[in-house]
Amino acid sequence: MQKGKINVTTENIFPIIKKFLYSDHEIFLRELISNAVDATQKLRTLASVGEFKGEMGDLTIRVEVDKKKKTLKVSDAGLGMTTEEVDKYINQIAFSSAEDFLEKYKKESNAIIGHFGLGFYSSFMVSDKVEIKTRSWQEDAKGVAWSCDGSPEFTLDESDKDSRGTEITLFLDSDSKEFLEEQKINELLDKYCKFLPVEIAFGKEKEWKDGKEKDTGKDHIVNDTKPLWTLPPAEVKDEDYNEFYRKLYPISEEPLFNIHLNVDYPFTLTGILYFPRIKNNIEIQKNKIQLYSNQVFVTDSVEGIVPEFLTLLHGVLDSPDIPLNVSRSYLQSDSNVKKISSHITKKVADRLEEIFKNDREQYEKKWDHLKLFIEYGMLSEEKFHDRAEKFALLKNVEGKYFTFEEYEKLIKESQTDRNKTLVYLYATDRAGQYSYIEAAKAKGYDVLVMDGQLDTHFLNHMETKLKDSRFARVDSDIIDKLIEKEDSRQSNLTPEQQADLTPVFQAHLPEKEMSYYVSYESLSESDHPVMITQSEFMRRMKDMQEMSGQASFYGNMPDSYNLVVNSNHPLVGKIVEQTDKKLGKKLEDLRAEKKGLSEEQQLLEKAKEGKKEEEVPQSEKDQMETVNKKLAELEDKRVEMLKNHGKSQKLVKQLIDLALLANNQLKGEDLAAFVKRSVELIK
Ligand code: ADP
Ligand code: MG
Repeated sequence: MQKGKINVTTENIFPIIKKFLYSDHEIFLRELISNAVDATQKLRTLASVGEFKGEMGDLTIRVEVDKKKKTLKVSDAGLGMTTEEVDKYINQIAFSSAEDFLEKYKKESNAIIGHFGLGFYSSFMVSDKVEIKTRSWQEDAKGVAWSCDGSPEFTLDESDKDSRGTEITLFLDSDSKEFLEEQKINELLDKYCKFLPVEIAFGKEKEWKDGKEKDTGKDHIVNDTKPLWTLPPAEVKDEDYNEFYRKLYPISEEPLFNIHLNVDYPFTLTGILYFPRIKNNIEIQKNKIQLYSNQVFVTDSVEGIVPEFLTLLHGVLDSPDIPLNVSRSYLQSDSNVKKISSHITKKVADRLEEIFKNDREQYEKKWDHLKLFIEYGMLSEEKFHDRAEKFALLKNVEGKYFTFEEYEKLIKESQTDRNKTLVYLYATDRAGQYSYIEAAKAKGYDVLVMDGQLDTHFLNHMETKLKDSRFARVDSDIIDKLIEKEDSRQSNLTPEQQADLTPVFQAHLPEKEMSYYVSYESLSESDHPVMITQSEFMRRMKDMQEMSGQASFYGNMPDSYNLVVNSNHPLVGKIVEQTDKKLGKKLEDLRAEKKGLSEEQQLLEKAKEGKKEEEVPQSEKDQMETVNKKLAELEDKRVEMLKNHGKSQKLVKQLIDLALLANNQLKGEDLAAFVKRSVELIK
């Protein structure tokens, strides 16, 4: 028997292994099984080149637990090891690579993907003692036994093992009893080993007999050794893809499309990606792609490996060329990862373009689910934007779909304003903005639906891409202003009449949480008398703020709206008439008085001209103050008078309520009062 000390600088490496990898103890099983898979694959290679001529026999890898002895055993019938090989690969190489790993690991904290690279020694995370019994495939080989109790000392001896292969027994420590539970091991095998290329047996198949669950005597094989992504795409049918999807995500809805990746130069990458049906919440959808390395599960968080927007996809990626024992920040700068990432982006664009070109009908049917994904891609990846510009769709309120190019052609003629800007009209709420949509349609304009989660960002983005174009929500101004044309109508109201009308309307405007600015437009008699609009700019700012979830300047502003009065509408004329009848004389007197004061003010201003502040006599300064004060008083009086008059005008209230109603802002008590008043007015 040989005794030795493992060549390490750290006196005792095991406590460090245990401490540093605390959260991920379970990966030991993946490491042991992947070694067993490697050993089996190597034997197959030796056989295929004719070096190994013996019987392959049963190559199944077996996992066994013994609750009494508190052991967990992984055994394979792979190529095994000779004494020299155990000394070399276990005592020297494996150990030093474990040490390297820990060095790196300390610096990179816990950002390392799946804690790959620790290999065989990760078994010490869960064990007091580890034993290896192995026998090489070579004809004259003898059995070897190796044992180590967690200190750097080991023993190496001959063993009576009479079959080829390796058997690793872990004597689980008291903190690791969970790994004696059948359910736990099944869970881990399902997570890490589901698609390994060599059959793995754990326990026996069970069946129900006489109301009891019984072992059948048949091995329970936990894995699918030829997962779909490893097959040539030409051999795979649509149903197979869907079935595989169900295996991966049993509770998800059927996917929209899939992409089968299959590259072997200049990097190796296989996998199947699925476009899921994306509903309205991006966050929930993320991180469903599973990353494998030669069919060994590594992680289901692929951030840093594929572009952000692709994390919305589902499926599997398998590439031994993605470095695994490095941090995520390092990953993004790795040249293989960069190549893989842009390859996937390109393939995704290719696939979408292909479906768009070959089956536009199907593509349009699925667009509402694809939209969020494609917009996200266009917003975040320049290269994807350039591709997707050709197959991204716009949908109008009639439910028709257009590419950007098609849509531009459709609206170019009618929706170009007098500054040669093409105006894309859109609605975010077909029912709520109905009357504005109708007004736009009456003009022969087309209106898009932009009610997606990313649409505000997306249209900002598109404005930077489309030449001489802008987006305007149908209710952000009156339609003649949204797309201004040459002809502007004459106003029926003088500036003075408008100034007097403003307080009359203000008397009825709701003041809670919102502010309204009264303005006048010379529309036609058949247009609405009063309308409410909200500035495109302010609203977008607020929307974006809301999405980003931070409060700030725009987020805290009250909603502000325009109350647009159609100065040519007969009903507005009627209000002016009534105001004139009631207050005409008084207003005229006020105006005359104000005029006198204004003239006085102007004279005083003139007298001041060219003089320094201290050269103006005190008497003149006092006089100026009095005049200003009086003017302010008169203005207050005017507004007060008009507001009081306005309050008694049911028609004004009615017109404002109608405008609020068309903007979806009339609710609750106000709505009830409106209905009641309407009935009275009809009577
Ligand atoms: P890695 O698998 O990355 O080489 P490990 O620490 O997992 O590192 O294993 C170290 C070495 O020990 C392997 O490269 C292999 O030569 C040997 N080894 C481990 N497990 C087995 C096994 N089940 N059968 C044969 N050789 C093995
Ligand atoms: Mg290994």
